[in-house]
Amino acid sequence: MGAARAGIRPGEATIEMADMSEARGLWDRIGELLFANELEPTVSNFDICRRYVLGIDEALVASVDQAIARHGGLTRTAVASLVALHSRAIATDEIIRFAQQARAKADEAATVIGEAQGVTRRFADALEAGATTLATGAGAEVVIADLLAETRLMTERAWTAEDRIRKASEEIHDLRTRLAEASVTANSDPLTGLPNRRALEARLRLAYDAAKEQSRTFSLAICDIDHFKRINDTHGHPIGDQVIKLIASSLSKVGSDSLFVARYGGEEFVVVFDDAEPEEAMSRLDMIRADVAARQVTVRRTGETVGRVTFSSGIAGMRGRRDTSAMLKAADEALYRAKSEGRNRICVA
Ligand code: GH3
Ligand code: MG
Ligand code: MG
Repeated sequence: MGAARAGIRPGEATIEMADMSEARGLWDRIGELLFANELEPTVSNFDICRRYVLGIDEALVASVDQAIARHGGLTRTAVASLVALHSRAIATDEIIRFAQQARAKADEAATVIGEAQGVTRRFADALEAGATTLATGAGAEVVIADLLAETRLMTERAWTAEDRIRKASEEIHDLRTRLAEASVTANSDPLTGLPNRRALEARLRLAYDAAKEQSRTFSLAICDIDHFKRINDTHGHPIGDQVIKLIASSLSKVGSDSLFVARYGGEEFVVVFDDAEPEEAMSRLDMIRADVAARQVTVRRTGETVGRVTFSSGIAGMRGRRDTSAMLKAADEALYRAKSEGRNRICVA
């Protein structure tokens, strides 16, 4: 079974597609892999299968083969953890490109330095030969003319080298800035400025592994704004956006080193409480919930009243849960309970 069941081997297709039949072949093989493993054609399932079929990511191919060997096929859970594990690769493409450009600049600078060194060595040789010639009593004018010519060449090369190294260093600086910007963009949500779901997944994996290794625990909360559709319908999408920003900043205000807030989706946020049992997370989050619920929200520019905005939340701790997906699932179920029990409340899983 396994790869045989799927009938696919990695690396069977290439990225350059010479014609449509090749593109079609790739498409068919991806479809076959999805179908053979009864996977829905979601964007992430498709991406995992595409990268496996293309064989462009060795780590991913190895993980897929391992999952297939272990379960006799690609299960939904296996693909979900593959997505979590390998989703960073999307941002990595860009980072690799920056690294290649920076490397080319460094190579260029090294070549220029090498050339300048060669010229300096020639100058030293000429100086030595000139001194020997002068010592044997030959014409000083010829020696001086030779040395002057070498000096001019060396100075010109030194200036060129200096100029090119300065330019390369400016370009590397520029690349570093763009890399930092790309990393921020890839990991943050443009509306609220909070870490996005990708950053959250990475942070959760870290929190889980660290807590497990150090025999500690942590908790997470999913928060969802109550009756948000109504806010959008009554006041319009732009005001809805402002409400999302308001809740984001309220949740962030209780920020400390041991608290991490991310925008999980539309009007949903996830708060990570390091070193906290669910009960402690609950009491900390409940203060924010009560604070938010006590306010009357108005639009500053127009004076329009939005009224009370509340959110509900579900909390899950790490204990007894085998991974972060299980924690999120439990928190989501607790959130559902908080909604059905009347909203503006927090339930612990
Ligand atoms: P509930 O109390 O059960 O959560 O009710 P709800 O109306 O909040 O229901 P739900 O959570 O399903 O609604 C989410 C709505 O949020 C649907 C979608 O139109 C809206 N939404 C999602 N993302 C954005 C966004 O970025 N801006 C705005 N303004 N609205 C968004
Ligand atoms: Mg929602
Ligand atoms: Mg909602």
